[in-house]
Order: sequence, then C-alpha cells, then structure tokens
Amino acid sequence: MKPTRKQLMWVYKKLHSAYGPRNWWPADTDFEVIVGAILTQQAQWSNVEKAIANLKDHGLLDPRRLAEAEAAFVEKLVRPAGFYKVKSRRIIDMARSYERIRGAYSMPIPAAREELLSMDGIGPETCDSILLYAGNVPTFVIDAYTKRMAERYGLAEDETIRYHELKQRFEEKLPRNERLFNEYHALIVELGKRHCKVRPECDSCPLGKRCKKRVKSKTKKPALEQKAKPRKRR
Ligand code: SF4
Repeated sequence: MKPTRKQLMWVYKKLHSAYGPRNWWPADTDFEVIVGAILTQQAQWSNVEKAIANLKDHGLLDPRRLAEAEAAFVEKLVRPAGFYKVKSRRIIDMARSYERIRGAYSMPIPAAREELLSMDGIGPETCDSILLYAGNVPTFVIDAYTKRMAERYGLAEDETIRYHELKQRFEEKLPRNERLFNEYHALIVELGKRHCKVRPECDSCPLGKRCKKRVKSKTKKPALEQKAKPRKRR
C-alpha cells in the first residue's frame, strides 16, 4: 500500500496543473505564519483571517509588541478564531519565544521538530507548518485533508494512519525540497476544499481516474414501464 515516487509525483503534477501554484502561506512575515498556524487550530481560515486582521490593525503582528500586550486585550482581537483564551495565551508565548523558534529553522530537522514540539500548544501539524512555511525547512505537513485524500486515493489503509507514518510515506519517496513540500501540501488542501470533501465530488476531480474510492455519479435510469400481466382466463 506504500506509494511509489512515481505515484506521488503523478498526484502532484495532476493537482498542480488543475489548480496552479498556491503560493502559500498567505502572510507578510514569518511571525505572521507562526501566529496563523496557532490560530488555525480547530478553526476555519476565514475566521482566522479576521483575527489576524484585528492583530494587524493594532500593530500586534510584531513579536516584541505582542510579547508585552495585555492578555485580555489580545483575547478580544483573536475571538473570531475561537478558543480565544487559550489561543491568545499561546500566541503571546510564541512572541516571547520568537528567537527560540527562529533558531530552530537552522537546526537539523529532527532537532528543530523536537525544539518546537517541546513548546506548549505545538503539536506535529503546527510544528511542521511553522518549520515549512515560516522557516522554509523541508518537512512535510500532514493534516485532516491529507489523511482523507490518502485513504481514498489509496496512499494509506485508512484515515486513522498515524501522523508520522503518513509523513514518512511522502518524505521517503519525494525529493526533500521545501518548494515541493510547500506546494504539495497546499495543493492537497485545495483538493480537500474543492473536490475531496466529506461528500466527494469525484466527477470533476483531477485525480479521478486513478482513485481507488472514486464515486461515480448516479444517473437516473428511466423507470421501466411495467407490463400489464395477462389475466388468466377463467
Ligand atoms: S476521485 Fe473522489 S475520492 Fe478520489 S480523491 Fe478525487 S474527490 Fe477524493
């Protein structure tokens, strides 16, 4: 069931030609990526954008200013992203640990991951998102969209596959390149939003023909006319 390099590159090329380059992450600075990666936990990106705009309007997308900001004020600004008490505390912590996070960008990848994962509120997905999109470190990001697509397309046995196992399946076959990993993950997210949704839209999906779980749309057949049974003659 482990994918080959050829399969993974076919998927990448199909998604890239269907959706075009995604140019992630939508942020002006690496610190904005870090803040976005925390705020997007269990939240829709459209709500995260509102919280980021609030922080920007108040000049708080600056690590020094955010590190000294009052928690209650930050809570108000990040409220649209949900879990605002926890998230405000976490982004303030990130601001205070900014130099430590930046230091991780130049470490060997296992050490960089260990450093970030030791911080409160940073799990594997947030850790890899920060390293890849803020630090240009070639580490592959796995999220719910990736697991869903991998299970349906046939790159994983099921959606309960462990984070590291699926990450390894991509990393051991693909060239370790931050541009490729950046685009690949962004394209999978696009696939999850446009086609491989909870109720998939397989007819127009760029991966359609080779997907193991492709669902063909049902075309209604015209109801057969019922023939009248000949009556028995008494
Ligand atoms: S063909 Fe359907 S199930 Fe397969 S990846 Fe595309 S949308 Fe998902």
